[in-house]
Amino acid sequence: MSSLSAPRRDGASPRLVIVGGGVAALEAILALHHLAGDGVEVELHTPGREFAYRPLLVGKPFGTGKVIDFDLDDLARHVGAAFYRDLVVAVDLERRQIITHEDERIPYDYLLFCPGAEPRAAVPGALTFRGLDDEGEVTRVVRGLRAGELRRLAFAIPGGVSWSLPIYELALMTAADLSAAGVEDAKLTVVSPEDLPLGIFGVRAGEHVRELLDRRGIEVITGVHPQEFENGLLQIAPGDPIEADVVIGAPRLEGRRVAGMPCDEHGFVGVDEHNRVIGAEGAFAAGDVTSFPVKQGGLAAQQADTVAEAIAADLGLRPVAAPFDPILRGVLWTGEKPQYLYGMLSGGHGETSVFSERPLWEREGKIVGRYLAPFLSAIPGVERPAGQTGARDEDSGH
Ligand SMILES: Cc1cc2nc3c(=O)[nH]c(=O)nc-3n(C[C@H](O)[C@H](O)[C@H](O)COP(=O)(O)OP(=O)(O)OC[C@H]3O[C@@H](n4cnc5c(N)ncnc54)[C@H](O)[C@@H]3O)c2cc1C
Repeated sequence: MSSLSAPRRDGASPRLVIVGGGVAALEAILALHHLAGDGVEVELHTPGREFAYRPLLVGKPFGTGKVIDFDLDDLARHVGAAFYRDLVVAVDLERRQIITHEDERIPYDYLLFCPGAEPRAAVPGALTFRGLDDEGEVTRVVRGLRAGELRRLAFAIPGGVSWSLPIYELALMTAADLSAAGVEDAKLTVVSPEDLPLGIFGVRAGEHVRELLDRRGIEVITGVHPQEFENGLLQIAPGDPIEADVVIGAPRLEGRRVAGMPCDEHGFVGVDEHNRVIGAEGAFAAGDVTSFPVKQGGLAAQQADTVAEAIAADLGLRPVAAPFDPILRGVLWTGEKPQYLYGMLSGGHGETSVFSERPLWEREGKIVGRYLAPFLSAIPGVERPAGQTGARDEDSGH
């Protein structure tokens, strides 16, 4: 176990051990710091030293985005948490210990399990856009379209993908890029099992996104599952194959498995409404690794807040702990004005669906976390890439 920040070892405070160093982990540290101050000893165990802010990656092929690496040691130090560069290989829920790659056993009073999910290719023959490391291939495709070497690009969203927003962003930004370059004969198509593009935000927002895609000349084929891309044909079910020169697909996620942590066949961990791991005393899980069907950074942050509240209530620092009540907030980059989308996930889909070209919430960050967004917004360049204008006064679908 290699400590980078000095841990506090007064022995008096309960210890929260966090497995992971992503969105859920950071939000939980900040939330708990806010709710409990120094009342909880917090340790972060994760193999990498950086927190990679991934939503900005979609802009990279168009020269407007970047990955922002944030130093986890700095953050931990800032809020009095300890940071250890460990790959956690097992958890012992009975003894309340985690086990690191160096075979060290670390005891906990509370565990937050948030190692995220693994993106897997789901459409054979297609390029898979996972974010990191794939933007180079997408850049080559965009260059090929600009140069007229490629003409037909299809975007494929396979079944089981809940967060399709990056694929729509790639489609819209490609269309804007080609239009700016004077390319008029390229054909862009999005194929998706959704009823409406980004229909997860609700009917009104979904219809708005469909209109936006129509206006950009992007064909959208909904209610179909992309199967395979071979010999210039994207097979879909149901329906006739679609001709394409290249296909960019969204990945399907698998929860990151760690021995001893119960999970379903896809690696996802079952949690209750307070994000407690079902049947494991003192253990919580949050983020993409949980069985909650929508995998999104804002929701990972809301789950982390739920965990911090539950721990604070358990320690008598809060009268009650609010259960997880998911609200979906997304910023869709379009190559022009960003679109702000909002939807309630529990009940009243169409009723609560909102879209706007003005920010619908206080912080504009792509990952909306109560504590993480203001924290990150203090870092220049995180909020919006060059080339995105922030309109203030056009249509709103309230
Ligand atoms: C291209 C792209 C665009 C996106 N756009 C948006 C967006 O606009 N808005 C939005 O809200 N979300 C967006 N997301 C989704 C968002 O990034 C994820 O939902 C979010 O990062 C999930 O948070 P998490 O904490 O569960 O996992 P992650 O952030 O993936 O963090 C997991 C952490 O666990 C660590 N880890 C893994 N295994 C172990 C182990 N065995 N032991 C210890 N640590 C381990 C990892 O190193 C990592 O630090 C986007 C994702 C991508 C890829």
